[in-house]
Amino acid sequence: MKNYSRKEKLKHGFWQNKPMSEMSKVEWEALCDGCGKCCLNKLEDDETGKVHYTSIACRLLDNESCKCSQYSARHQFVPECIVLTPKNIAEHAYWLPKTCAYYLVWKGKELYDWHPLVSGTSNTVHEENVSVQNKTIAEFEVNDDEWEDYLWEEEV
Ligand code: SF4
Ligand code: SF4
Repeated sequence: MKNYSRKEKLKHGFWQNKPMSEMSKVEWEALCDGCGKCCLNKLEDDETGKVHYTSIACRLLDNESCKCSQYSARHQFVPECIVLTPKNIAEHAYWLPKTCAYYLVWKGKELYDWHPLVSGTSNTVHEENVSVQNKTIAEFEVNDDEWEDYLWEEEV
């Protein structure tokens, strides 16, 4: 006999009235808009602490889908990949894109209309040009001392 697992049904607007610490794993994961921006390599200014995004993508990011190509096994390949949680978001908020749903909800702000949870489709993040789709270069194609030549020009 085949086993079926029940999918958790997401309640519309759960992010507006549920504290992050009380969100289920499914709700937490659903908050991600799939923009792929957090998977871009970044440079941090030693003096000012300012974070500059580059167009150089993590080796596992798919430039087309903007998804991690090995999400469940990613730490085998990229041990430094940060797992964002309700407990550590305050520590990481400074470098998150200002459009990131985790950042917005943490700040008590509303999600944008293009967020898949609002629009009902994952395409809108690409259609509204919020994602990194087709805008990245793979990190193995760029020398470490050339990263400054690949600063991300759009607002993050
Ligand atoms: S920046 Fe935020 S919303 Fe975008 S892919 Fe990363 S975690 Fe998801
Ligand atoms: S390992 Fe995957 S989730 Fe982590 S930064 Fe790279 S592409 Fe993104």
